[in-house]
Amino acid sequence: MNWKKFEKELEKAILSGKYITFLVGAGLSVESGIPTFRGKEGYWKIGSENYKGPEIGTFRMFNLNAIEVWKWFLFRKTICRKAEPNRGHLILKEIEDLLGNQFALVSQNVDSLHKKAGNSTKRTYLVHGDLDYARCGDECSDTLYSFPKMEDKTRESTISLDEEKLLECPKCGEYLRPHVLWFDETYNEKYYKFHTVTEIADNSSMLFVIGTSGSTFIPGHFINRVSYFNQPIIDINISESEYSYFLNDYPNGYETRETSTEALEKVLSIIKKIKYEN
Ligand SMILES: [Zn+2]
Repeated sequence: MNWKKFEKELEKAILSGKYITFLVGAGLSVESGIPTFRGKEGYWKIGSENYKGPEIGTFRMFNLNAIEVWKWFLFRKTICRKAEPNRGHLILKEIEDLLGNQFALVSQNVDSLHKKAGNSTKRTYLVHGDLDYARCGDECSDTLYSFPKMEDKTRESTISLDEEKLLECPKCGEYLRPHVLWFDETYNEKYYKFHTVTEIADNSSMLFVIGTSGSTFIPGHFINRVSYFNQPIIDINISESEYSYFLNDYPNGYETRETSTEALEKVLSIIKKIKYEN
C-alpha cells in the first residue's frame, strides 16, 4: 500500500464532492466478538445433525422449521445485544463527522454496531438487513417490527410457549422472520436499498472495501461499478481476498493486510490532515 499516493487520491476524492464510500463486512465486527457465519462458531445443531450458518440462514430452512431458525437467530441476537462497537466502528463515526454528506456506509453486518457507534441511519445502508427488526415471514405487509424481546439465549436454550407467541405476526398470525437477507434470497430496494447503493457506487470518488473476503455479492458488484469509472479502490483485509488479483492489476487499486482498526486509524489521520489544512 502506497500511502503517499493514496493521500493524494483521497485529497482529490474529497475535493470532488462525490461519495467516499465505506463498504464493510464481518471482519470489522470480529474485534467486537461477533462470530462470522462461516467461522467455526457458525455451526448449529438440530437434533443429531450439524448445520453451517449458510444452511440455517435460508428461507428454505425457515419454511421447514421456523422455530429452529428462530433459536439460531435469538442466540445470535443475544451475542449482538451484548457486543460493543470496537475502535474500527468508532473511527467510522469520526470519519462520518468529518466528511458529512460525502460519507456513505454500506454494511453487510446485521449486528447494530454502527448504530451503537453513532453513525447516522440516513448515511448507513444495511444491505443484509438489521437484527433490530423482524417482519412477517408470510409478507402480509412490509412493516418492520421490533425484534422479539426475550431473555438471553445460548446455543442450548429452548423457546417457551409464551415466547413463541412473540414470534407471531401481529397482523396475520404467521411466524415473523428476522429482518435479514438469507443466503437463498436476492437483494431488493424495498428492504435492502439495492438500487440506492448501486447509485452510490456509481457516484463514488473512492471506495473502501473493509473486512470482507469476497463470498457475498455486494463487494464484487461495488468493485465492478467503481472500477468502471476508474475511481480508487482500497481493500482492507487481514488476508488475501477474492479481489486481490483484480486490484493488483487495477491502476487505482490499493491493498493493505492490516486489521480494519489499524488501517482505518491511518485513513482517519489523513482525512483530518486534509480537512484541517484546507
Ligand atoms: Zn403477517
